[in-house]
Amino acid sequence: MGTARELLQKKLRTLHSPEMPIWLYQAESLPNRNFITDSEKELIDLVRKYGEFSKADLVTYTDYSRTKITSCIDSLLNKKIIIGDNATEYTGGRRSKTFSLNGDLGLVAGVDIGATSVDLGIADFTGKLLVRYSEPASVRNGPIKILGQACSLLEKMLKENNLSSEKLNGIGIGVPGPVDFSAGTLVSPPIMPGWDRYPIIQTVQQWFPSANVVVDNDVNVMALGEIYQGAGKGVDNLIFVKIGTGIGAGIICEGKIYRGSSGCAGDIGHIEVNKSGPLCHCGNKGCLEAVTAGPAIAERSLIGAKEGKSPILLRLYEKNGNTLRAEDVGDAAREGDALAVEVIRESGQFIGDVLAGLVNFYNPRVIVIGGGVSNLGNLLLSSIRQTVLKRSTPLATRNLHIVFSEIGPDAGVIGAVNLAMDYMFTITSGNGERD
Ligand SMILES: [Zn+2]
Repeated sequence: MGTARELLQKKLRTLHSPEMPIWLYQAESLPNRNFITDSEKELIDLVRKYGEFSKADLVTYTDYSRTKITSCIDSLLNKKIIIGDNATEYTGGRRSKTFSLNGDLGLVAGVDIGATSVDLGIADFTGKLLVRYSEPASVRNGPIKILGQACSLLEKMLKENNLSSEKLNGIGIGVPGPVDFSAGTLVSPPIMPGWDRYPIIQTVQQWFPSANVVVDNDVNVMALGEIYQGAGKGVDNLIFVKIGTGIGAGIICEGKIYRGSSGCAGDIGHIEVNKSGPLCHCGNKGCLEAVTAGPAIAERSLIGAKEGKSPILLRLYEKNGNTLRAEDVGDAAREGDALAVEVIRESGQFIGDVLAGLVNFYNPRVIVIGGGVSNLGNLLLSSIRQTVLKRSTPLATRNLHIVFSEIGPDAGVIGAVNLAMDYMFTITSGNGERD
């Protein structure tokens, strides 16, 4: 361990008090925090979502006066967080008309740790991905191995692309389990032996001492990716539903991730949809996840195929070495296979039933569907839409959009980049500067 790392560790030990969330003291101990006021944060959020803006745009989209906007812009220009279209403004040249985020301010990495892969991206400070990489990895191998793999991969990507690791200001990490956000640790994750309360932030900071590190549940992270750069751009109230080997939802409430009182809000996979349905790994019967996640769709189709209801699916099953995947069901449905169509339609109805309840309860503007099962295509989406429309109140569905993710397989990485950016632009009271 080098001197800088030793110093950092010492600082971590001295500064930490149990009342203070780990990421807060971590940020104050790092030199690269950009302290900003609440109103500056609001302007930054607008620019992150919509790109370039003029002073008039900001007056229109916020409740602030022109004078207030001008002073915020001046302050953000001084901090080099935004840049004007005319760099000579302060040397007596023409005044800038439009402003945008300063991409050169630093680098931000997004790490998406999945059950069977690690996905990585490095972005500039506008959130634009510069580098993207993915490799197989099993979370079951434990945190030491997987975090080591992710960090050495990140180091290699920085090097190969001539990017300086000192410019790496933030690292956002999404993990596939319940997260205690204030501690930055997983809590009793069902599929991740060895990860329970493992110090992810400290481990990653030993590799990258200049970076703010922040950890959250993968579905929350994806929901964030959707409101900044995906299908829910600029939407304040949104639900992101990931349907893959499991089912979970990330909730965006008034523009922020809603985590609930202990961090596990959105765990919709265990809502009961069929009392006599199959046994779920949580011990209950007929949970949404046990009925409509990828493996359940494949399983139900296989039973039908073996009963002689689908020669296409049986052929695919034999061709794949006696396994049937949800994507095979999608392929068969596209060829018009009646059983595959029926299984997908029925799955859409079960998902729609649960979403209808969420719509009545939460009244979101947009529901984004992502995860591997979204590959099943428009048949699934139209079945979900029909069920939600039928079962939700008319006022709640009047302006509701239910769409597939636009950033698809990149949602986790883009979301993790935005998680880190969100975090770096969030703490506003660090140097006593307030509105
Ligand atoms: Zn369950």
